[in-house]
Amino acid sequence: MPGNPQQFELLGLTNQELMAVVEALGEPRYRARQLFDALYGQRVATLDEISTLPKTLRARLAEEGYRSGFPAIDQRFVSRDGTVRYLVRFADAQTVETVWMPDGDGAEETEESATPGPSSNRRATICLSSQAGCAVNCKFCMTALLGVQRNLTAGEIVGQVLLVLNDQQIEIGRDRINLVFMGQGEPFLNYENFIRAARLLVEGAAIPESRMTVSTSGIVPRIAEFGAEPVRPHLAISLNASNDDLRERIMPINRKWKLAELLEAARRFPLRSRERLTFEYVLLSGVNDAPENAREVVALLSGIRAKVNLIALNPGPEIPFQTPTAAAVESFQQILVAAGIPTYVRRPRGLDIYAACGQLKRSTTLLSLT
Ligand code: SF4
Repeated sequence: MPGNPQQFELLGLTNQELMAVVEALGEPRYRARQLFDALYGQRVATLDEISTLPKTLRARLAEEGYRSGFPAIDQRFVSRDGTVRYLVRFADAQTVETVWMPDGDGAEETEESATPGPSSNRRATICLSSQAGCAVNCKFCMTALLGVQRNLTAGEIVGQVLLVLNDQQIEIGRDRINLVFMGQGEPFLNYENFIRAARLLVEGAAIPESRMTVSTSGIVPRIAEFGAEPVRPHLAISLNASNDDLRERIMPINRKWKLAELLEAARRFPLRSRERLTFEYVLLSGVNDAPENAREVVALLSGIRAKVNLIALNPGPEIPFQTPTAAAVESFQQILVAAGIPTYVRRPRGLDIYAACGQLKRSTTLLSLT
């Protein structure tokens, strides 16, 4: 890289890769660990501010074209419920959303995280984007209206977390932070960068994988690959329909991988002891919220150690579906619970600022709620 006028981003590199960088400059290897800790552990936003490295080394790195930078906060929308929707901007001016949810929304609940530890202070969930826009085209999701613009790099995924942790003045270890890869994009269509980001967040930012959940629309070949990862967050599958006809109507991805294939991959997924596979189900009034649909879901999930998160559709312009009634949601939940499937209704968070599930479309106007 010496002599190359291009810029090389350090955020997103592993400790091993940073070692290669410092060794190429004739520096001892331990400088790489200092750099790694500064980037991910201390969350230092720019190379210039890394005071653990000698000034001369910082200058040499900059001369060689290396830089480190967090994404910028373009806009910050604060909901009446405390949720914050960050519109974050990357070096090429591309923007995505990252959502801060104090107390979470129920999506991140795990046996392990259900009880706050004694040293726990603040509890929150950060919802991350893995791509700008999304190609999967789920019919109930506002992100789909953007199309896919590009994959995010691992540094850009990690950068969203570090940026929000700094903005919210979070201390990992004292505060309990969950991460959900459920913002813009399909993480399994940007698999290498997503999994690299997860590893960096575990090793560098000390956020345990047990507090991370990734959601997929059902990219079947990636489910098995993900199951074999040494660092493996929890898995959520976005189900949303109880039979193939219905799922094809609202999730075109089902034309490629049918429910039978998807659920076979789910059945083979290697769960840890006490772990459950999460299935997300967005309820659309009169479309997939009938008791018959709930009974079909029960049959589909038989033999899988599953839990279900129900989400009553969050409204948005250009989305041709209605929010179900509270009674429909409750009766759907009761059928699943009666069949022995732990089922939760997710509270919509940040609905008034377009921060809730399926609403991430870089909106700069706010939803009018009465
Ligand atoms: S629900 Fe997820 S996978 Fe489907 S279009 Fe929206 S962002 Fe993409």
